[in-house]
Amino acid sequence: MSLSYSQLRRYRTCPRQYEFSNIKKIPWGISEGESFGASVHNALKRWGEAELGLGVGLGGRKKKDGTREDQLGLFIPEERPQTGLLTEEKLLEIWHQSFVFNTFPTQFEADFARRRGEGLMRQFFLWWSQAPHSVLAVEKSFTLEIDGMHIAGRLDRVERTEQGVRIVDYKTTAPCTQEEADADLQLSLYALAAEQLFEKPFDSAQGKPCTELLLLFLSDEGVVERSTMRSVSQLKDARTQLKLIRERIWAKDFRPTPSVHACKRCPYRGVCDVAAV
Ligand code: SF4
Repeated sequence: MSLSYSQLRRYRTCPRQYEFSNIKKIPWGISEGESFGASVHNALKRWGEAELGLGVGLGGRKKKDGTREDQLGLFIPEERPQTGLLTEEKLLEIWHQSFVFNTFPTQFEADFARRRGEGLMRQFFLWWSQAPHSVLAVEKSFTLEIDGMHIAGRLDRVERTEQGVRIVDYKTTAPCTQEEADADLQLSLYALAAEQLFEKPFDSAQGKPCTELLLLFLSDEGVVERSTMRSVSQLKDARTQLKLIRERIWAKDFRPTPSVHACKRCPYRGVCDVAAV
């Protein structure tokens, strides 16, 4: 069985929603929020690529994704990065090139989203310029195998820090609480992926397979960070949770779990007979 994390998240949100999407394959249109989020991710991916292109990471060497050399590169002293071309103007230029406007119903709404994105980029740049960053990878794909289930996903951004590796995940939603970040299954999955992708810097014996998981909530009012980490026992729990989900999917357990929170965002609320909205 192969799943993406977004499919798993759909199952966790509501098994009926997963059934509509993955079993009955009922198509749904991309929402304006999803479109905006995709444009933001694409712009920050290109920004990260610009950082990598200028040698802001891997000690200025060309990146060879996933190789042993990459892993060893984590320990090579970093050369002084040349960040002179990474300006706020450059980031705004990337934003305007990345913004997808044709998913918005009117030009007015598209222009509003574009301006909102400019604000997000300015805030991101402020966050980014306040401390040195050593980017190792952007939009790094991974596939984890857990008891016969292959879970595919992508890490938005991977940075080297003095302690090891930091996984950064961009969000354009309202910030979650620290408790939610500490318990987030997606972040646990990312920590497991990091363990597989960047095996070398982790010291599992000390219970620190990933040194930092950072949720970066972007808004035009500022950047909110939620920093967390996972211990070995938390990762074991995450594997158990993922196995349980796999067993329920294999058993075709698609009983709905309606709630106002889930249903108001559900693309199938118009066809679902138990929708809570
Ligand atoms: S409308 Fe609610 S109950 Fe129905 S599939 Fe969507 S989330 Fe589940």
